[in-house]
Parts: sequence; structure tokens; C-alpha cells
Amino acid sequence: MRVMRYVSTRGATQPLTFQDAVITGLAPDGGLLVPATIPDVTPELASLKGLSFVELAKAIVPRFVDDIPDAVLSELIDAAYQNFDLTDVVRLQGVNGVQVLELFHGPTLAFKDVALQLLGKLFEHILTHRDAHLNVLCATSGDTGSAAIAGVRGQANIDIFVMYPYGRVSPLQELQMTTIPDRNVHCLAVEGSFDDCQALLKAVFNDLDFKHRMSMAAVNSVNWARVLAQIVYYGYASLASEVPVSFCVPTGNFGNVFAGYLAKRMGFPIDRLIVATNENDILSVFFQTGVYRRGDVQFTITPAMDIQVASNFERFLYYHLEEDSNALVAFMDDFQSTGEARLEQPPSEDVFLATAVDTADTMDVIRAVHKETGYLADPHTAVGLSAARRLKIAGPVVCIATAHPAKFPESVDAAVGEHVAEHPRLEALKGLPTRRTVVPADVEAIKSYIVANT
Ligand SMILES: *Cc1c(COP(=O)(O)O)cnc(C)c1O
Repeated sequence: MRVMRYVSTRGATQPLTFQDAVITGLAPDGGLLVPATIPDVTPELASLKGLSFVELAKAIVPRFVDDIPDAVLSELIDAAYQNFDLTDVVRLQGVNGVQVLELFHGPTLAFKDVALQLLGKLFEHILTHRDAHLNVLCATSGDTGSAAIAGVRGQANIDIFVMYPYGRVSPLQELQMTTIPDRNVHCLAVEGSFDDCQALLKAVFNDLDFKHRMSMAAVNSVNWARVLAQIVYYGYASLASEVPVSFCVPTGNFGNVFAGYLAKRMGFPIDRLIVATNENDILSVFFQTGVYRRGDVQFTITPAMDIQVASNFERFLYYHLEEDSNALVAFMDDFQSTGEARLEQPPSEDVFLATAVDTADTMDVIRAVHKETGYLADPHTAVGLSAARRLKIAGPVVCIATAHPAKFPESVDAAVGEHVAEHPRLEALKGLPTRRTVVPADVEAIKSYIVANT
């Protein structure tokens, strides 16, 4: 019998089952949930090599789950990945001496679909089984909202409420949310900034009475199932190479690259992980110096990476501190009270390398890669391509492509100098009827909207 429990990085939560971890999101002690043990795939690598993405998902995901039968998990995985445009879900492309791992062939054209499609199926299974209903609340500056909606639209046991800053998300990204006709989807255009939306989200979840009474759930990358789904493509791309590969990952909340770190710890043949940030460089500075210092958020052409405090960083820190919750809590308390915390020395460069790429470099890379190869990279992907060029890693490098270029047409077209970034699915949204409610940035207004519309 396989046994898998989830523990909190902060060490003050009773171990949870997988299903409870998925429904709970953030641990009650304020920490993040991680598996109590990390499975070792080293003995099986030969048999995992050559599997399709979906086959590999069916081999990997069950290792972290002991409360859903393997046969049921297989069905959920099949259902999650049938809506992708590629039979094999993801694709490796050679571009100028590196491999690009395209993860954006799902319903909303961003890598977040890989995890949120599976999370949607997991929610559906768990809620049906428990005869329960969930209200999902999410704050988005763009990609997360549409991918979360695509994961749960039409489900009878879920209502999803997506808050975004009114007038401050791109018109295409707004259409990807507001044109969805399903009655369980509620788009809230908040009269405020993205920070206001995140503050509202926190305030709603901090009202524990409301949270429990209304069965509120979270789909941001603190949810363990998102990390789990992402481990699969690191394994897949590493096994496609004859020698260990390094991954270069455009990073915001550290969820994507953290999945790569776990894949490495599981024994997949992974050499280094390159953390590529934009001007919001708190993480690249940390990996270079060991100092973790909060700055002001800068707004860039890679909005999904305009983040200062990365929620999944805590999961990495927990392992880096050898699972010592007391040391972790001390570090986080320092950071919380002073805006700065530091390690004795930075993590070894044997695993993580990091660099920050500015807007000019990002635009240059989009232009140069397109000119040299015809390949069109979205700005987030280009941050990774630029970092990989700069760091000159020995051995094969896989750059993670996180979004389709047509999601960010203004920057991509400007970089290339002509109109090139287009996707038929996005074009088809223009002119469709939209639904959304404008609400004030007020927590009571959000709560009463949820109560009235569930
Ligand atoms: C969310 C997102 C990222 C950042 O991923 P994290 O897991 O938050 O590090 C990068 N690129 C795109 C296009 C995204 O949507």
C-alpha cells in the first residue's frame, strides 16, 4: 500500500491526505503544503523513457496520491488533456541551439492550462465523491483567471469568482474571461489595482468563518495540485535527452521552476535550473547573494512575472533548510517584519542559476530570434531565452515557453516591426457577448456578491 501525506512548511498542521491538500490550498498554519516524502523514480527511468506526456503523467501523478484509485486518476488525466491542440499536449522545438518546450497549446494558450485543466478534473472528482460544493475565488492580472475558468467552467459543484483590475488587463485577456457563457463563471471587474484584488482575496480567506461557511477554495499556485501537474513536463523533457538537461524558466511566483526542482529531487536527469526574472528581480538577487529583499513592483511587458513576493519560494526554502520548519518560520518572520531576510550563504550554483532580464533585452531577443529562425516567442518566453544566452550553460538547455505570442500582440508586434502575433481562437472572441460585474474594491461587496450568486 502506498501512503502519501502532505505536511505544512511551517510544521504546525496535522498531515493531510492528497484530497484534503487539494481542497485546502494554503495550510491552516499559513504555510504551504508539501509531500511528506518525495518519491524516487531513479530505478524506473529506463521504463519511463519514451512515454507520451499523458502516459508519463499516469506514471508520475499516482505516486503522490493514495486516496484516489489509479484507474480513476488515469481517467481524470485523460479528460484533463483532451482539450489541448497537440496530441502529445506539449512540444519540444529546436530554436537556435536550445530546445524550447512549448507548454501553451491548451484552451487559453498559456502554460497554466497544464495544471489548471487537471486541477479542474480533480475538484470535480472530489466534490462529486463528497457531494459537496466549492466557491473558487481568484485574483488575476491576466493568465490565471482565464486558465482557472477554463478548468472549471460548466461544473455543477463549483462556482468560480474571478477578480481582475477594471480597465487594467489587456483587452484580449479580458475577453478570454468575460465571453465564457457558463452560469458558474462570475467575472468581477474590481475598481482598483491588481494589488487591491490580491488584498481582497486575502481578506476574504482570512475571514475563517466566511471561508468555511461558503466553502471557499483557491486555485493560485499555492495549490499543491498545480505544482504536481507541472512536474510531469520536466520529467518528459529531461527523458527526451541522452544526457542531463538544464531548464531555463521565466519566473514569477516560482511555481513553475519549483516543479522542476522537485523533478530533479525525484531523480529525473536534470542538471541545472535557471531562474529568469524580469526587472522584478527579488528572486535573481536571492540566488546570487542569499539576500531576499522586497522591492516595489515594476510594471513590465511580462505582466505574469510582475511579482515581488513569490508564494512558492517558501516551498523551496523549506527543502533548502533541510525541512527545518523553525528555521523557515524565523526566515519568513524576518522578511515579514523588515522586508528582508538572508541566508548565511547563497544556495550552491550546482542547482540554481539566476539572472534578471530587462525590457530592452526581452524585445531584442524576440526580434533577433524571429529574424534568425522565424520563431516567434512571447515576451515571457523571451526572458528565458535571453537568460539562457547570457549564462552560457554547458550541456543541453531547455527553455520553457509559457505563453503563445498572440496573447501579447502589442509587444511581440512592436519587437518584430510588423503584425505577426495572431491566433484564430483569440480572433474569434472579438465581438462575442460579454458578461462581467463592476464592483468596488471593498471586501464586504465581494462577500455579498459571492453569497448572492452561488
Ligand atoms: C504565470 C506565468 C509565468 C510565471 O510562472 P510562475 O509559476 O508564477 O513562476 C510566466 N509566464 C507566463 C506566460 C505565465 O502565465
